[in-house]
Amino acid sequence: MEKYIDYEMCKKCGGVCCKQNGCVYLPKDFKSLEASEIIKELDKGKISISGQPVNFFMNNWTYIPYLRARNKDAEIVDLITNGGPCINLTDSGCSLSENERPSCGLLVKPVKIGGPCEKIKKDVGIEWLEYSNVLESLIKLYTNKDMIDVVVSQISEKIVSIKKKINNNIPLSEIEKLNMQWYYQIMANKPYYEPDEVKNMTLILH
Ligand code: SF4
Ligand code: SF4
Repeated sequence: MEKYIDYEMCKKCGGVCCKQNGCVYLPKDFKSLEASEIIKELDKGKISISGQPVNFFMNNWTYIPYLRARNKDAEIVDLITNGGPCINLTDSGCSLSENERPSCGLLVKPVKIGGPCEKIKKDVGIEWLEYSNVLESLIKLYTNKDMIDVVVSQISEKIVSIKKKINNNIPLSEIEKLNMQWYYQIMANKPYYEPDEVKNMTLILH
């Protein structure tokens, strides 16, 4: 598998990218993506169901769920994440072996201490699209809500918190700065489509 590792550089850096967000898995990182097998992985406490909003044609949007390395203090269902640090980050780097590490972590090419480092382009959302039904059913199982309701309520909470910080001159976190634009964009864009409905459309990933 394609991977980029530079232990020396990342050690000097101290894992700036891992402090920002847990990295994202690809479907091929799992032997099985049956609901019962995903539940076993989630129960180990190191993975969350997360995901990303995706725009397509005329600002319509969908949300594609995927699995990511859990962020410290994050819930099992962490759709609009507050970011890291990743739960696997230790003083001596990532506690996962290269074989256990999410593929998207291995696809970051260390080029600059302190980052940003080069992310090798990968259509993560598209790769996960065919598993959206099983992940949506698990979101329902854990939260008792439909995925779209969790997404909208989490984005609304983020917007309220960002506005409060701005009004009180409190600096925004990196992830808030990075995502603020699309939080507003997503809430303004209509309509929402289920991931199942967009499988054959051209998607623009955030
Ligand atoms: S930001 Fe770059 S150098 Fe730092 S830990 Fe991440 S990949 Fe390594
Ligand atoms: S799983 Fe490892 S490489 Fe990925 S963000 Fe966490 S600590 Fe970093």
